[in-house]
Amino acid sequence: MGTKPFTFRVYRFDPAQDEEPGYRAYDLDVPEGMTVLEALLRIQAEQDGTLAFRYACRGAVCGSCAMMINGREALACRTQVHDLADQPRTLYEGLEREEKEKRAEDESVITVEPLRNLEVIKDLVVDMDPFFEKLEAVEPWLQPREPHPEAERVVKPEAWAEAEPYTNCILCACCHSVCPVEEEDPAYLGPAALAQHYRFLADARDAADEERLALVGGEHGVAACDFVWNCVEICPKGVPPTKGIAKTRARITRRRDQSDGEGE
Ligand code: SF4
Repeated sequence: MGTKPFTFRVYRFDPAQDEEPGYRAYDLDVPEGMTVLEALLRIQAEQDGTLAFRYACRGAVCGSCAMMINGREALACRTQVHDLADQPRTLYEGLEREEKEKRAEDESVITVEPLRNLEVIKDLVVDMDPFFEKLEAVEPWLQPREPHPEAERVVKPEAWAEAEPYTNCILCACCHSVCPVEEEDPAYLGPAALAQHYRFLADARDAADEERLALVGGEHGVAACDFVWNCVEICPKGVPPTKGIAKTRARITRRRDQSDGEGE
C-alpha cells in the first residue's frame, strides 16, 4: 500500500484563550503502519507545536492516548491510520449537509477529537479527575479479613478466572466516554469504576462483600446502568463492565431478598 496522503481534522480548544472550539486541518503523507499517535506526534513536531494531547507508553498499556477517532473511542497508539479507511465515518456536527456527506465519504479525512463526558483542558487533553474520583469511591484495593500471611495468598485458577478479565483495565476512560448514562447522570459511578468494583467483589481473597455492595447500591451505582453494552463493545482491553454490573446487581437483589425473608 505504501504511503498515502491524509487530512487530519483535529479538534482545537484552549479555554484559557477565550476562543470558540473548532477544528484545524493538517495534511500528512502517512506510511503504512503509522498509528494515529505517531501521526499526531509528526504534526506536532513539523506543523503545529501548540497541539496538545496525552500519551506515555505507546504500547496500549497506559491508557493515556484514548481519544475519539472518526467518531469512535480508541487508543491512538493502537489505531493504524490506513486501517481507518474501512471503518464508519464521523458525522461532523455543524457542517452543511453537502459538505458533511462529502467528508463522510472521503476516506482520506481523519477526525480526531477528545473523549466525551469529560471537560476539555486543551485540544485532545481532558480532565480525568472526575473519572479517578469515581474509581476511588469504589475502594479498588484488596480488603482481606485475616492478617497478612507469611507467604503470598494463594488463589486457585478456577477462583481467579472470574476476577481476571477485570484486571486487564488500563483506565483509559473509553467506556466512560461512550456510556449514555454518564452523559445524563454525571454522578453515575460509571462502567470503569463498577468494573473495578466487581474485580474485588469477585476476588476470593477479599472479605468486604457487605461493605462493597453498600458502596454501589445507591441510585448512582449499579441500579443506574441501562445495559446498553457500549462499554463492552468499545473496551480496547476486552474488559466486560456490563457483565460485572449485572452480577453485582444480582448479588444486591439476593441480599435484599434474604434480609426481607429474615425480617418476616
Ligand atoms: Fe478502558 Fe476498558 Fe478499563 Fe473502561 S474498562 S477504562 S474501556 S480498559
